[in-house]
Order: sequence, then structure tokens, then C-alpha cells
Amino acid sequence: MFKSSNLKDHRQIGQELDLFSFSEYAPGAVFWHPKGWIIYCTLADFLRKKLSQEGYQEISSPILVKSDLFKKSGHWEYYHENIFNFNIENQSYSLKPMNCPGSSLIYSAKTRSYNDLPLRFSDFGNLHRNELSGVLGGLFRLRQFVIDDAHHFVRPDQIQDEIHELLLLVVSFYKSLGFTPEFYLSTKPDKAMGGEKLWEEAEKDLKIALENAKVKFGIKEKDGAFYGPKIDIHIKDSQDRDWQLATIQLDFQIPDRMGLEYIDKDGKAKRPVMIHRAVLGSTERFIGVLIEHYQGAFPLWLSPVQCIILPISDRHTKAAQEIYKKIFQKGIRAAVDDRSETLQAKIRDATLQKANYMGIIGDKEVEKENVISVRTRDGKDLGQLEVSEFLQKLQEEIDKKI
Ligand SMILES: [Zn+2]
Repeated sequence: MFKSSNLKDHRQIGQELDLFSFSEYAPGAVFWHPKGWIIYCTLADFLRKKLSQEGYQEISSPILVKSDLFKKSGHWEYYHENIFNFNIENQSYSLKPMNCPGSSLIYSAKTRSYNDLPLRFSDFGNLHRNELSGVLGGLFRLRQFVIDDAHHFVRPDQIQDEIHELLLLVVSFYKSLGFTPEFYLSTKPDKAMGGEKLWEEAEKDLKIALENAKVKFGIKEKDGAFYGPKIDIHIKDSQDRDWQLATIQLDFQIPDRMGLEYIDKDGKAKRPVMIHRAVLGSTERFIGVLIEHYQGAFPLWLSPVQCIILPISDRHTKAAQEIYKKIFQKGIRAAVDDRSETLQAKIRDATLQKANYMGIIGDKEVEKENVISVRTRDGKDLGQLEVSEFLQKLQEEIDKKI
């Protein structure tokens, strides 16, 4: 665990490591710099790979849509002060604040049979929510962001199993990042859509799924979404701070409002149930949490600069460039520091940039060919390694995500 002195917030670390910036031209929206975008894409790729193994199909739907869609879905009534609206050719348009209505339109674009369910649509669409400029805060509170969203369309008899699988997915995803998730069941809020009986049933479904998954959980009274109860998933970071990230929400309302159907065994049209779920929550916010959790010192698989090659003097630059090429071509995010600085200065700068490894090349290494002296970010000397040996070590560490 990190000690509380000398801790930096993600905005400061983001600036020092050149990860992202903000501009007065787009309050509440992130400008991702190359290194920050590497972290973003690496995380998204990891999640996408996991989701395709779990039978998800990725979709994408428009960002600018007629406001009528949100009136139909029910979001307008409960959420309109957070929606950005425009008038285009005398029609009211909105920037989508959520992906659910778009997913519903894709669901209902063709006839679905009971056999097709469960359908799992994942969606990394850009969302916009009108937050007051005074409450915007770095990556934690934005007007434009991406949720690693998904909507599951299931038959009522599939709810338990589907939630069960989802809980396992969340546990396994966070475990692979070294976190232990904690679960909370959030019940009916005061401002809610739908009858008492449906809510009771839905809350019971989630409770049974939590019990079956054998995870400990707490209750958050009246904290559900307006369309249904939810399971909130929290993690603790390296500073023992609690973050609510993932969420699983059960919804009987939007399928009704959007007129979703599937044809059942008996040939009759029935309503599917919708499950909204996110694993990371807002991707931007999640990266903000990770930046503070690691204090910028990312594990190798996520690190934007995995290795910096440091020639000791100008006469070692050519050999350094050749070794850099070999490492870079194997997909390792490497760089060469060939400035005319002292080795001490280069090591200091590479450490400040939180590069995981430094590969030092001097007379001895040049003489042996294909050898570098490896040093870790924490100052540990790993001695001379063959380039192939070093690459193997990196790959093993990347695969383990440590
Ligand atoms: Zn949704």
C-alpha cells in the first residue's frame, strides 16, 4: 500500500507522464496524448478479447439522435436535465447520454426467437452528459466519456444464470488486474418506473444470483436505477480508497417502453428482460483510478513505455538503435535515449517517465553483441542479458499482467 505522503492525483501524474490534457475549448472532454491512448487501447483490447470469449457481439449506434428516442425509452422524463439537446431543421436532437435505446433499436431491427436469447450486445459508444462546469474534475467527472457498456436481452427464465455468469466475469476480470471486487445490491429508489411487484421480483432475482455466486454482498437501500434494481461492484485501491466501478442492472421497463419482443416456443410474442452492465464503468474514470492506484508506475502490460535503451555514450548509439529495433519489432513499447547526456541523467529521466526497464549499452555490451545490461524502474540491477532472453522475460511478465 502507498503511504499517504507524496501521493499525486491523476491530473498531475497525467501531465508529468504526458498522458492526456484538457482544453478550455472542450470542457469535460479528454485529449488523449499518444502515451495515454496506449493505456486506453490496451485496456479496451484486453476487455474486448475477454468479451468475445464470453459470447458478446459488439455493436455501435449513432451519437446524435432525435430526442424522441429518449422520450420513448423513458430517459427524458428521469434524466432530461443531463441531456445535451439541439434544434436541427426544427427537430429536437440529443447527444446520447446512454447506449440502451440504441441497443434496443438494433435488437428490434429483426425478429428474435426464444432460441436467439440470451443476446449480448457490447457497446463502447461515446456518451455525453450535461454536467455543470463547476463539478467537472479531471478524468473522474466528464461531459464526454465511454462506458464499457453491454446490454443482455434474456428470457425471464434466463435471468438467474445470466446474472450468475456476469458476476463470475466481473470477479475474473478484476482478479486479473489484482483487485478483489465487493458487491452491493441497490434497491428501489423513490423516483422509479414500474410497479411494486416487478421491483420485488427483480430484487429477489439479483439477491438469489448473488447468493448462488457465493459472493459476500451488502445492501444499498433506495440506490437502484429508475428502471430497476442493480448490483454495484466496488474495489479498493492501493490507498485503501473505495471506488464504485462496475454495475449490473436488471430492467423490465425499457423493453416495455421500446416494445421489444421475441417469439416464444408457443409462437406468441413475449417481452425479453434487459440487463445493463458495465465492468469498468466509465473507461476514462477507471484509467484515472488506475493512474492514482499505481501512482503512474503501470504494470508492464499496460505501461506506455515498457523499455528505454540507454547508450552510455555517442559511440554506443548505433548498437543501441539496432537492439531497440529488435525489441520494438517484437511488439515491445521501447524507446532509445540517444541524447548527449550522462548515463545518470538518462537513468533519472527514464525513472521519472516510469519506464519499466532500462537496457544499458556500453563497451562491454557492444563487444558481446546482442547483450544489454538490464535495470528495473526500482533500481534493481538484473545484470547482462541476451536480447532474446530479455524479450522472453518481458513476454512472460506481460502475459501474467503483473
Ligand atoms: Zn443501458
